[in-house]
Amino acid sequence: MSHADAERTVTTAAPTDAPTAVTPEQEVVRICAELIRIDSSNYGDGSGPGERQAAEYVMEQLDEVGLEGTLLESEPGRATVVVRLEGEDSSRPGLAVHGHLDVVPADAADWQVDPFAAEERDGCIWGRGAVDMKDMDAMILANIRHFARTGTRPARDTTFVFFADEEAGGTYGSHWLVDHHPQWFEGVTEAISEVGGYSVTVPTPEGQRRAYLLQTAEKGIAWLRLRAHGRAGHGSVPNDENAIVRLAAAIGRIAAHEWPREYIASVRELLDTLGTLTGLSSTDSDLEPLLATLGGAQGFVRGTLRDTANVTMLESGYKHNVIPQTATAAVDCRFLPGHEDALMATIRELAGEHLEVEVVHRDVAIESPFSGDLVESMKQALLREDPEAVVLPYCLSGGTDNKALSRLGISGYGFAPLRLPADLDFAPMFHGIDERVPTSSLRFGARVLGDFLRSC
Ligand SMILES: [Zn+2]
Repeated sequence: MSHADAERTVTTAAPTDAPTAVTPEQEVVRICAELIRIDSSNYGDGSGPGERQAAEYVMEQLDEVGLEGTLLESEPGRATVVVRLEGEDSSRPGLAVHGHLDVVPADAADWQVDPFAAEERDGCIWGRGAVDMKDMDAMILANIRHFARTGTRPARDTTFVFFADEEAGGTYGSHWLVDHHPQWFEGVTEAISEVGGYSVTVPTPEGQRRAYLLQTAEKGIAWLRLRAHGRAGHGSVPNDENAIVRLAAAIGRIAAHEWPREYIASVRELLDTLGTLTGLSSTDSDLEPLLATLGGAQGFVRGTLRDTANVTMLESGYKHNVIPQTATAAVDCRFLPGHEDALMATIRELAGEHLEVEVVHRDVAIESPFSGDLVESMKQALLREDPEAVVLPYCLSGGTDNKALSRLGISGYGFAPLRLPADLDFAPMFHGIDERVPTSSLRFGARVLGDFLRSC
């Protein structure tokens, strides 16, 4: 079918010759591999290659099927692509479907393969971004192309975005777009993106069962700098106001602090449903066996049982025989929804009187309900492809671009559907080495996402 025909049929249901068009599952693997081969490493300090080349690739893929994307640069090389498709029912609120084009850096020496070669091996595409998140970018792009080729439409007006800079907090991507071009999200009330919708295989009394973790909440972020002040002096002279000692004591107190456990709604529901499925306890005093059933995904879940504070960088001193006047530490704090003020107060108290606490970067915690039409659409799209599975809510210990969209009142979910083999330890591959995604999972995801977009 020619493009001209496609344009004339946009208001109708799928044309009868639609099956002859290339399907999303036929090209999702190619697109994922081509995106991985474009190095878009984000070091967080502006020294990386930027997302421009990946964004241009997305623009070409859109252009090839007659769609006009919009490429926006926040800074030279820091590019985001937006494209809007009209839905079957434009009177309904709009949906945003977004991915990010940047990846965290990869040290090739640690990998079994070249992280930017997108090698296909053992049924998987290997490379930086295979999991986070050029896999989902490819599923989104393949589905947009299919709508254009077949002249069909998503159920609702949909804004598709391929963001820059997610891996450094979205300053040059999602937050920038929300600040400078919020009109792209006019009428949009809900969003879907990454780190959710993938399966884990859990043991039940009746055998193994696949459970899809739908991400409905994200912890908030507070990156803090602790600065201890003291008295400078000669290294041979007793000094009870040593900045390094003060900092070390504060770090010790923070490390020893037991953050109270609290179960937010999504975490409670995840644990209770998982308990029912597996027959294991979901009570506070006996949670370990249940958490263990989640395999590598338990790290994400453990991070959502309480607020956390991890010391990640230290800096002080310049000569062996000089006591420095200041010492600083970086602390990565993550708080549950509603806990930001309490966390900050606790850290200030633990830091003590000789330390300044500076907020270097913060972002909100978010929580969306695990109910309603959109959630039902995500569940049904998964269950149509995998009828024996269950879908569970979970909270992400990290953050995504949904935080930025939440500033526009948009409820965000993590839904990058992947049916994964039971023995693939998937969750630790986010920012890990030997990142890889099964090609069958990519094709599954492309189908489920397309089904969801047509039915949501
Ligand atoms: Zn990501």
